[in-house]
Amino acid sequence: MKKSVFLFFLSFIVNLTYAQPTALQAVEPMFWWTGMQNPNLQLLVYGKNISKKTVTLNYAGVKLVKVNKVENPNYLFLDVVISATAKAGKFAINFSSPQGKPLQYIYELKQKENNKNRIQGVTNQDLIYQLMPDRFANGDKSNDIVLGMKETALNRDSMFYRHGGDLQGIINHLDYIKELGATAIWLTPEVENDMPNASYHGYAVTNHYQIDKRFGSNALYKTFVDKAHQQGLKVIKDVVHNHCGIEHWFIKDLPMKNWVHQWPNYTQTTYKDQTVMDPYVAQADKKEMLDGWFVPTMPDFNQANPYVQNYINQNIIWWVQYAGIDGLRLDTYAYNDIKYMASWAKQIKAEFPNLSIFGETLVNTVVSQAYFTEGNTINQGINTNLPGITDVQIKDAIYDVLNGKYDWTTGVNRLYTVLSNDFIYKDASRNVTFLDNHDMSRFYSIVGEDIKKYKSGLAMLLTTRGIPQIYYGTEILMKNFSNPDGLVRADFPGGWASDSTNKFLASGRTNQENEAFNYLKTLANYRKNTTALQTGKLVQYVPQSGVYVYFRYDKQKTVMVIVNSNNKVTNLKTNRFNEQIGGFKTAKNVIDGTTFAILETLEVPASTTLILELQ
Ligand code: CA
Repeated sequence: MKKSVFLFFLSFIVNLTYAQPTALQAVEPMFWWTGMQNPNLQLLVYGKNISKKTVTLNYAGVKLVKVNKVENPNYLFLDVVISATAKAGKFAINFSSPQGKPLQYIYELKQKENNKNRIQGVTNQDLIYQLMPDRFANGDKSNDIVLGMKETALNRDSMFYRHGGDLQGIINHLDYIKELGATAIWLTPEVENDMPNASYHGYAVTNHYQIDKRFGSNALYKTFVDKAHQQGLKVIKDVVHNHCGIEHWFIKDLPMKNWVHQWPNYTQTTYKDQTVMDPYVAQADKKEMLDGWFVPTMPDFNQANPYVQNYINQNIIWWVQYAGIDGLRLDTYAYNDIKYMASWAKQIKAEFPNLSIFGETLVNTVVSQAYFTEGNTINQGINTNLPGITDVQIKDAIYDVLNGKYDWTTGVNRLYTVLSNDFIYKDASRNVTFLDNHDMSRFYSIVGEDIKKYKSGLAMLLTTRGIPQIYYGTEILMKNFSNPDGLVRADFPGGWASDSTNKFLASGRTNQENEAFNYLKTLANYRKNTTALQTGKLVQYVPQSGVYVYFRYDKQKTVMVIVNSNNKVTNLKTNRFNEQIGGFKTAKNVIDGTTFAILETLEVPASTTLILELQ
């Protein structure tokens, strides 16, 4: 998430009002499973003066070990231990007192599903397709406006309002995503954001256990994951540890003062990630970065509070187990309490060894993004247990290859240099690489709507190391600059029944859009079947005269990639690369299928990245 999204709302006044709950309003997580790795569960119970009640439960294998009362009498936190012998079933949690009616919540322990074929993990064998549910396709008009929610207006003419896209719309177009060659889908958050303004983006959560009704239901989300899996598509869930929406029900009636970071006056984060790692940091600066609020409408969780920790941890485990998710994208990673995030990651990996996680780190240097990854060579203080991050440095370097001037450290030299710094990571191949996303200008606009540069960038993205991610619409040349970022969150043409064109179909696309789509499709499907581009070794050569050559290879194949950043044809002498090409006689251009002999010189067209399979 990027701060500029919310500048529009900076004038809003922070006002935490007190709400009156019903007798028993919430028990969360509302159900759980038998056979989980961690036997401990902490139930948040919310109801009017619930702390005045005596709590009992009686179920074989389930023990209520502690009833925690906190500042607000409307909350109880129940520490429960579920033994390995506990059987799936339902039992009553009783709340009684001398005065007043006894209350009861029927708690269910479900049989844990076998996760072997559902939680598969997202790795460098995948290509991620990122989309925003509100802006992709409207598969159910009946949920466009949900009465009782704070934002009811639907206005497709304004980038700030809801547009009606939903989970059913995505389900209806899974075949399209599959056809393109993607193997994983990352949705921006789909849980409830019952905010009065700009609620479509999903990063201001108001109910952690409920899919936003305008996107569908919890059951439909589970169906979406199942159907995606049936199509060979994995699912990544976007989760926000750092903050929630100010309209969240528990923010209206805080369990305790230190549930969120409170300041005498509204205090915003400085967005200065340097303070997290700076050895010379002023402690006041670090506190402001970490404990300041992202924006006035998003209270900052106090992640040092163990009740908050349990709440977030269990919520994410609940979603993964419930829906069978393959990976998690962690929003605003650098703003979190790093020690808490390290313990969270350890816990979730213990529960789901195959689950993949990557953190959003919109930072400025290789060192500062590597700082957040596990087992790196620089952060001696803490092991974050975080395998990968969003690799902004690769994106910026590819931009420089395409738009910058070739020089000692710029142009193709920049990408070469960034990759040469990979020694800093335990495993850089777990970073998510990308050219754009929902917070950034669209890639086609970045390259000045130059289709050659567009193809060249995609070629680098899909052939260098990492887990490549593309943003919906990139494949059909959607364009715009992210100021404001609603401009890069336009509706996918054809996702709405009333749309005049349908770009999900080749017949609805222009010739140039089909050229782009087919290029990415060809490349994505080639990558899908070429382990050398997924898990193969990378060898790169020092760039010369604006040309950068690298190889990906394994026992099956060797792929040679030649990036010509010059706007003129280059005749590349091949004898420099004998270490890799010795023994091969011909090369196949993987895009057009042409095969030719490897001669002393290779002709590389202007502003082109050639991908050659050596034979
Ligand atoms: Ca809809």
